[in-house]
Amino acid sequence: MISESLQKKTTAFTLENINSRLSDCRKCPRLVDYIAGLAPRNPMSRTEYWNAPVPGFGDPGARVLLVGLAPGAHGANRTGRPFTGDGAGDFMYPLLHEAGFAGRAESRHREDGFRLKDLYISNAVKCAPPGNRPENAEFTQCRPFLEEEIAALPGLQVILLLGQGAFSSYLRLLKDKGIIEKMTDFPFVHGRVYQPSQGPCLIASYHTSRYNIQTGRMTTEMFLSVLEKIRELLVSGENR
Ligand code: SF4
Repeated sequence: MISESLQKKTTAFTLENINSRLSDCRKCPRLVDYIAGLAPRNPMSRTEYWNAPVPGFGDPGARVLLVGLAPGAHGANRTGRPFTGDGAGDFMYPLLHEAGFAGRAESRHREDGFRLKDLYISNAVKCAPPGNRPENAEFTQCRPFLEEEIAALPGLQVILLLGQGAFSSYLRLLKDKGIIEKMTDFPFVHGRVYQPSQGPCLIASYHTSRYNIQTGRMTTEMFLSVLEKIRELLVSGENR
């Protein structure tokens, strides 16, 4: 399923050891400083914030990987779980549940017993950036963790990339591995599916950010349609 060049790392990395090394990572000084100085939202205190790299989570046997941009400063950076504690997750998890990818409709905090089904969720950049905008160097620094996560999910068939930032970062990984020649052959178009010459297929989607929801760029119907497309891809993979 997964490309040979990425699969080589499977034996060396597990999700547990990736997340363990991630917790100590300080490779992006701008992000480390930002988190260190982040003021908590009233009435919370800093001790109620995760304030560290946010590891991916989900089903280790997942056939689907969802990749977001980066933890929200007062969402995932507070709770320590991707898309948890902010508007993007409040929108997304009920729809993942409706599509059968989540055990229930709400992710509240790391210890709430919430489970994903056939799905793993992570971010292209694991530390919260100022203004939700990682810099190119930060995508680059964090890309090896994404590569390792992909390698540690041997059943992977579909990668859902939310937003241009996550989409481009994954294309860069494919280009660096020699799996694609030109990133421009893969324009970001919401709902479009691509099958590179090796590895899982990709599907691009607008991000489920509060801004996109409020402006109507992303709607419930649009996200459910993307999830339906993923179900079809999984079924066609079973029939191959
Ligand atoms: S964004 Fe990634 S590479 Fe940068 S400090 Fe955080 S975990 Fe490390």
